[in-house]
Amino acid sequence: MRTKSAELSGWGRYPQVDATLARPEQYRELAAWAQQASLARGMGRAYGDAAISANGTTVLTERLDRLLSFDADTGVLRAEAGVTLDAILRAVMAKGWFLPVTPGTRYITLGGAIAADVHGKNHHHVGSFGRFVRSFELFTAAGAMTCSSSQNVPAYQATLGGMGMTGLIGEVELQLKRIPSSNMLVQHVPAANLRESLALMSSAEHDDEYTVSWIDCLASGAKLGRSVFMRGQHADGAHAHGPRDAKLSLPINVPSAALNRYSVGAFNALYYRWEGRKTKPFRCDFEPFFYPLDGIKQWHRLYGKPGFVQYQFVVGEAAAEACIGDVLKAVSSSGNASFLAVLKRFGEAGDGLLSFPQAGMTLALDLPLRAGTLALLDRLDAIVVAHAGRVYLAKDARLNASMMSAMYPQLAEWQAIRRELDPDGLFVSALGQRLEMAP
Ligand SMILES: Cc1cc2nc3c(=O)[nH]c(=O)nc-3n(C[C@H](O)[C@H](O)[C@H](O)COP(=O)(O)OP(=O)(O)OC[C@H]3O[C@@H](n4cnc5c(N)ncnc54)[C@H](O)[C@@H]3O)c2cc1C
Repeated sequence: MRTKSAELSGWGRYPQVDATLARPEQYRELAAWAQQASLARGMGRAYGDAAISANGTTVLTERLDRLLSFDADTGVLRAEAGVTLDAILRAVMAKGWFLPVTPGTRYITLGGAIAADVHGKNHHHVGSFGRFVRSFELFTAAGAMTCSSSQNVPAYQATLGGMGMTGLIGEVELQLKRIPSSNMLVQHVPAANLRESLALMSSAEHDDEYTVSWIDCLASGAKLGRSVFMRGQHADGAHAHGPRDAKLSLPINVPSAALNRYSVGAFNALYYRWEGRKTKPFRCDFEPFFYPLDGIKQWHRLYGKPGFVQYQFVVGEAAAEACIGDVLKAVSSSGNASFLAVLKRFGEAGDGLLSFPQAGMTLALDLPLRAGTLALLDRLDAIVVAHAGRVYLAKDARLNASMMSAMYPQLAEWQAIRRELDPDGLFVSALGQRLEMAP
């Protein structure tokens, strides 16, 4: 089994870690990798160090990308874990099917979607990705097992949201969702401050199949938390087409000086005014609605060489105004140039013991890495944990172990199942080591 050494990072390009990589060509090779220290990696879209093995080989799943079967009557798809959501959309949209839950990028794999139990703009209606996973194959040192809500249930619950640390996910069976066409019917509503932003997200009158708000996190004072609320639903149309290839690419790192609170503040203000004007319902293609950044390849170079961090947390609805208000005040007074932040509403938690979603509001913000950024994030952790909230591990690059255990009350239960599945500590990521998840 050939390996090579390389410096590896996640989408935020921080931290950079020396790693040993392997790229199996055949599905059956997973069984052998599961006999030794290893960790699966999909498209590397987790922002930090989640997809890097701490003590063995990082196993790239990009060649394990076979679509095995698709029933166009029932919408049940079987595929290898390295298949991307983009490839699935290309195969099924013309037949009138779509992903039941999709994150803000379609360049992730089925394995990554299960391991992070990803959420979309429809979480408060349908829950997270795991709800639609009918079953998956999990390779551990003891062999392969089929996991579902009725088979090998502890392994299933520990693997959904378990960030790759229970073993290597192989084949996956997923239930897709019917759509009338690739069109969306969308409407935007501007909100002048945080209270209005949260009220729109919770209002029955403005509810829709999908909802999201883009918050200007550099606005302060009376405008703190102002946003553009966006609602959308699948719409009728003559036909359905799959994704188109990205036309734009950011070929170089943008110099860090170009991103400062003035340039970013001007961008945020312009966005707020421009998008906030679209108050009449309009039709658009599914791509700009679901995947606004996928149209620009390598957009993470916008943050320059030092990279960036994303901070995403969820907090219960009752605490949302106080918690998000304090977070936004801390960010806007820090002078850090943060682009628009994304606000979504979550429904009930899913089956995964470490799944991120819990009922409430979630906010995600990008921050370029510079002096003071990590100290600011430590202050945000204290605010979030004081309101019984939690940080999303798929976006994390810097949380510490005591914060993690305070935020995830089911950690000890997950650790007990993990010890049964992986008694020799083979599947440990750099994130898991940093957060002492596999003691
Ligand atoms: C622009 C952008 C927008 C995003 N928007 C959202 C969003 O709206 N909602 C959301 O929930 N997430 C979002 N994410 C995060 C992303 O969906 C997750 O990090 C996802 O896990 C990435 O999948 P991947 O295939 O790139 O996995 P990687 O980043 O390669 O790995 C992520 C984790 O999955 C594990 N893993 C991967 N494959 C396997 C496998 N075969 N077996 C076992 N474990 C495996 C890895 O070990 C690692 O712990 C976004 C990310 C980006 C870059």
